[in-house]
Amino acid sequence: MRKVTLITGDGIGPEIAEATRRCIDATGAAIEWDIQEAGTDVMEKEGTPLPERTIESIDKNGVAIKAPITTPVGTGFRSINVHLRQHFNLYACLRPCKSYPGVRSKYDNIDLVVVRENTEDLYAGIEFEKDTDAVAELIGWINSHSRRQIRPDSGVSIKPISVHGTEKIVQFAFDYARKNGRKKVTSVHKANIMKYSDGLWLEVSRQVAQRNSDIEFEDRIVDNMCMQLVQKPELYDVLVLPNLYGDILSDLCAGLVGGLGVAPGANIGDEKAVFEATHGSAPKYKGLNKVNPVALILSGVLMLRYLEMSQEADTLENAVAAIIAEGKDVTYDMKPHRDDPTAVGTSEMAEAIIAKM
Ligand code: NAD
Repeated sequence: MRKVTLITGDGIGPEIAEATRRCIDATGAAIEWDIQEAGTDVMEKEGTPLPERTIESIDKNGVAIKAPITTPVGTGFRSINVHLRQHFNLYACLRPCKSYPGVRSKYDNIDLVVVRENTEDLYAGIEFEKDTDAVAELIGWINSHSRRQIRPDSGVSIKPISVHGTEKIVQFAFDYARKNGRKKVTSVHKANIMKYSDGLWLEVSRQVAQRNSDIEFEDRIVDNMCMQLVQKPELYDVLVLPNLYGDILSDLCAGLVGGLGVAPGANIGDEKAVFEATHGSAPKYKGLNKVNPVALILSGVLMLRYLEMSQEADTLENAVAAIIAEGKDVTYDMKPHRDDPTAVGTSEMAEAIIAKM
């Protein structure tokens, strides 16, 4: 048996976590669950949204699947999602975006994978607030070392992109492509403008591509990439992007295939991996047995593939695809009208998926 941490989250988390657990169990996967808490529910009981035992469990088991967690506003607690990525150095964010017949969307036949760098770039959290001594010192230094001048009433966010970080994520994209029978990796950047951050990204991407010449490689400037994805998404396969462009384009790609309800994801490092849906904890639907469990269930499919349980992954993905294609036992968001009285609940949709296996 392979032990896996299941973090039940808060808001709609516990309902979709339960649906996902039952679906994965029904595939016959040899998984033993180590169920752990994180989020606002446990915060109320224990005063912390991320108990030490939850971290220890991920540390021990190496693999976790996590339901969404609310980021409390104004409590002094940082996002648990960001904390987990940093704590375990989960440097790769994987977001497959695939069309399933039956999902309402403007496009069909899309099968893209977005690989987003998770630790650097403008997301690194290195920021200097307007009117502080630190920003005044920084602006003073920059103005004396650069031809370009920063106005004194500025706030400043720093965009670090390293050789190390870029090599790791681009190599990850090639490894993922090879392992999953993908043909092409496209590196996305704005190297024409940001020569020393995105320029470095592009140069290192090309070097890594040379060492992986069995897979096709190309690069695209990010603004052109956005237009191409909207006009001819079928031309693309695996996209690898720095953190900020990856954040934006993974939502764009989720939109191409029908939105958040069906968008799975994973945060992966060299030793640990945390699988999670792209959507959040949708607190207004908490406890209503209403929301779509598919994004977390498909994150479970990614997890099964990561664990090399490919038969179980195929069984689960095929069952999900069949239920979506039939369009009968699906939640409200997958019906033509959101108030369709034939929509089923979260647990009933999971039940229908299990019955298809
Ligand atoms: P959200 O994704 O939780 O919800 C936005 C809307 O999308 C919902 O009101 C609902 O209409 C729809 N939706 C989301 N998931 C759905 C599902 N499974 N089925 C059907 N409809 C669904 O986004 P938000 O309201 O911006 O965020 C709520 C909280 O979640 C915030 O605290 C945010 O920080 C957190 N969040 C957590 C994660 C995570 O845990 N990885 C990711 C994103 C947001």
